[in-house]
Amino acid sequence: MSRLALRGNQELVRKMNESLILNCVREHGPISRAEIARLTGLTTGTVSNLCSGLLERGLIEEVGLGASRGGRKPVMVRLSSSRFALGVQVGVDEVAVLLVSLACEPLRRRAQPLPPGAEPQAVVDLVTRLVGEVLAEAAIGPDQILGVGVSLPATVDADGEFVLYAPNLRWRSAPVGVLLRERLGLPVVLENDANAAAFGEFWCGATRGMPNSVFVYVDYGIGAGFIVGGELYRGRDRVAGELGHTTVDLSGPQCHCGNRGCLGTLASGLSVMRRVWEARQGPPVAAPVDLLAQGLRLDDLIQAARSGDALVQSAIREAATYLGVGLANLINLYNPQALVLGGKLALEGPEYWETATTAATQRLYPAFRNQVGVIPSALGPDAPGIGVAALVMRPLFQPVPLPVGA
Ligand SMILES: [Zn+2]
Repeated sequence: MSRLALRGNQELVRKMNESLILNCVREHGPISRAEIARLTGLTTGTVSNLCSGLLERGLIEEVGLGASRGGRKPVMVRLSSSRFALGVQVGVDEVAVLLVSLACEPLRRRAQPLPPGAEPQAVVDLVTRLVGEVLAEAAIGPDQILGVGVSLPATVDADGEFVLYAPNLRWRSAPVGVLLRERLGLPVVLENDANAAAFGEFWCGATRGMPNSVFVYVDYGIGAGFIVGGELYRGRDRVAGELGHTTVDLSGPQCHCGNRGCLGTLASGLSVMRRVWEARQGPPVAAPVDLLAQGLRLDDLIQAARSGDALVQSAIREAATYLGVGLANLINLYNPQALVLGGKLALEGPEYWETATTAATQRLYPAFRNQVGVIPSALGPDAPGIGVAALVMRPLFQPVPLPVGA
């Protein structure tokens, strides 16, 4: 083996062992170096050596002494509280910027409503301003930020730089990642919101430790994210999980994709808006997303249902019943360890949750009926933003199958 290749291998081994240690600290911290050695199978010398480097780079920190096991009390380490990732959550009517710790906790949040029809450039400007505000407020420098993840209701390109299509934002081929990287001077990666949320729940939420799970996100639109074998499954063209475009009614409402009766036209927040608009005899709309320009907002409808508006309540129940059909289809196809349901309408829409899960249970294949749990998102409405920040941090912790070179 050439000297260069050998050096390359040593560097790779060091990186892998560092990740092993960081992952161990993430899972078990605060933890002593001796305990890290025991759990990872690395020698105490290797752990000590690599921990010094990780301390120097500000990725872990010492937090006092642990309990003695006969000898001196060990110094405990945990993930650093001075390194972060930013999770930017671009929704249909709001942009939020979250400061997320290495331990995946959202520490700060700045948000601003997004006016209907906002162009990509305006969103880039808004995100840039919100990021500046979050950093100033937390007294954090850009050198403490590992990177910026952006979740969007969109399909994105393979490099996570371009929005390919975001129907509810009316964007096509928008270089949002490239523009933001130029403006912020930080690494930026884009991800579909349901995928980001699925990863977030797996990394630090409701499905932590479950390598096969699915996340269904119900907001203005509907999407699903799959975790298969502990990895996000994106499909050949990164469009896997388009649950909103599975057909549930052959002669249902027209969808922007060209088909009729897609789940998104019957079970989403936009479908609730359309039902309420039509029941109140509003003029016909070409696309429910146009109702945003009429001043309709999902938050307001949820509030109206809570205040006893029977029309909105019934529109939400109808949408939830259709979602239940979609959930049953998904579970019947995929048989996951758990299905996490999240997004504003699912979590906050009165009776949405109960109606959807009841409808799903009725349609599940008998063998699954009592086995696959539909569980609520642990990360809440910010799951995409937290998840996309976790995706940015993930390479640091990328677990390796076996310790090497110990
Ligand atoms: Zn469709």
